[in-house]
Amino acid sequence: MSPRNELNFSGGPGALPETVLAQVREAIAAVPEVGLSILGISHRSDWFCAVIAELERNFRTLLGLPDNYHVLFLQGGATQQFSMLPMHLLRGQSRPAEYLHTGYWSGKAIPEAELEGPLKVLWSGAANGFHRLPADDELIFAADAPYLHYVSNETVEGLQFHRVLGRDDVPRICDMSSDFLSRPCAAERFSLIYAHAQKNIGPAGVTIVLLRDELIEQAPSQLPSFLDYRKQIQAHSNLNTPPVFAIYVVLLVSRWLLNDIGGIERMAEINRRKAESLYATLDDSDGFYRGRAALADRSLMNVVFNLASPEREQHFLGAAQAAGFSGLGGHRAIGGIRASIYNALTEAAVDELRGFMDDFRRRSGA
Ligand SMILES: *Cc1c(COP(=O)(O)O)cnc(C)c1O
Repeated sequence: MSPRNELNFSGGPGALPETVLAQVREAIAAVPEVGLSILGISHRSDWFCAVIAELERNFRTLLGLPDNYHVLFLQGGATQQFSMLPMHLLRGQSRPAEYLHTGYWSGKAIPEAELEGPLKVLWSGAANGFHRLPADDELIFAADAPYLHYVSNETVEGLQFHRVLGRDDVPRICDMSSDFLSRPCAAERFSLIYAHAQKNIGPAGVTIVLLRDELIEQAPSQLPSFLDYRKQIQAHSNLNTPPVFAIYVVLLVSRWLLNDIGGIERMAEINRRKAESLYATLDDSDGFYRGRAALADRSLMNVVFNLASPEREQHFLGAAQAAGFSGLGGHRAIGGIRASIYNALTEAAVDELRGFMDDFRRRSGA
């Protein structure tokens, strides 16, 4: 069977809602209120300025974001934020910024920041193979750190923090690329949040940055314009040609969240039900499916698990593909199986996967 779009469990780029895809198909031919294809509309048009304004408003509504936050739509992915952030906040500092090394993606951020200034890894899960996250009593935060950086959801290992970390008197910075807008995130407790679109809220090409205005007052003045948050703020994310298409798709997703789903709390309830039922399928399998993450740190977005052997996992993936599922292979860094159940993945799709998993287990004689 060829892949069924509604059964796309890909870790990223992730699935998008069917209703959004239908509007995207239409917009590629012509955006109804403009009469031109979305691929050929000027980023200096009034229409596009209104797109940016509405999207910013939608984020403020969805997150309850206070007025002293800027909302930016940038390029370069989360990876560019690994550098852009320490360029502003770490260059020329004598005190180390504090980083948590909780998995693959937080590990990518650390060497980039080290290029800009001193850094302290406050806790690392490397020795235990990133099977769990730190408990509060394992973390001692310094009062004079320039900032704390962590990743809310480790996409590869399937580990997610279910609390806000750090001190309120030290800027708290979080990479929320793989769980942004999947649940309430207490945005007002963070000085800066970044999240690229392509896991949960749109296609690749745009990265959302929310930042509190006082954070960058002391930043060095000699930064390339494109990499300077202040210049991007002045230009309303329109400093050079922005990714018009990607931003428009994120706008459609934000409308879907507000109008079809009914907000972030509702989205979080749905996401919790999906994750709980899928984890129950692992836990009720008598060890046939083995969840990778410690129970308390299980991700509601990326359900990562193993079977008894790599051969059995290959067999599972082949059978899943034949049944129309896709994207279930684990990240190339760790293998295994990963079912990513981002916002757009429906409860019906999760039910189909559970049905398939139960069948596969029975057919394997377990
Ligand atoms: C996928 C991912 C990244 C990498 O993002 P790019 O946009 O490809 O640079 C960074 N952080 C997290 C948490 C991710 O899941």
